[in-house]
Amino acid sequence: MRYAEATCKTAMSKSGLPGLDYTLNPYTGCEHGCIYCYAPSTLRYGGPEPWGAFVTAKTNIPVVLEKELRRMKPGVVGISTVTDPYQPLEGKLKLTRSCLEVLLAKRFPVCIQTKSALVVRDVDLIRDFPEKEAGMTITALDDETSAILEPGASRPGERLDALRRLSDNGIPAWAFVGPLVPGFTDGDRLADILARVRDAGASRVLVDRLRLKPGLWGRMEKALEGRPEALEACRESLFVDQSVFNDLRIRAAQVCKEIGLECELCY
Ligand code: SF4
Repeated sequence: MRYAEATCKTAMSKSGLPGLDYTLNPYTGCEHGCIYCYAPSTLRYGGPEPWGAFVTAKTNIPVVLEKELRRMKPGVVGISTVTDPYQPLEGKLKLTRSCLEVLLAKRFPVCIQTKSALVVRDVDLIRDFPEKEAGMTITALDDETSAILEPGASRPGERLDALRRLSDNGIPAWAFVGPLVPGFTDGDRLADILARVRDAGASRVLVDRLRLKPGLWGRMEKALEGRPEALEACRESLFVDQSVFNDLRIRAAQVCKEIGLECELCY
């Protein structure tokens, strides 16, 4: 992975997302390189390198944030909303951690979402926020599937351990189970994921489906060249018959009810 350092003029943006007042993204681009990622579409990414191969780090973002917070009304800050705040580069640059230090000093509430066990490094900071929550995305339980769907992210066992560490440290922790990817997510696998995130301490779960965004299908076709059955299942569900998503939705609601897990269905 190549990266470049850049400076930013603004750190936070107003958020239109439910439950978030501001968004903060220390990185543009994401090393996790998930094959279903919607960010290239959101960012209109058209770089010469494939999504996941190049990242821009906003190296002055903690300084800019500190200045912004002097004049901004307190509100919930979503970290991150477009790219992952704990992608591997964060281990070296610590931009997310520096931003957390600034936000903690001003007592701004934070809502963190990631696919990386690196978030555990910052538990010492996150637990000190008066208002905080952290979400871990889990789309599969086996390493093989995870490596296909999300090649650069932490493996599922590491994510579940991280969820447990967050929860054990008094940080309200939830799981995002999605997107549900036909060919990889069937009803039984979904039920297993929901049970494991509940056991790992998630207080609630958000479930979402795979959605067709500009450029997505081309990337999925390429990534799933060696998995023709999965590719066909995705094609069928996106372009021909979307009923599989309705079946999964019903199953998720049933399982959550049975195991006592608060569930929000996002579709
Ligand atoms: S972790 Fe999120 S932002 Fe990063 S590649 Fe995956 S879906 Fe995209």
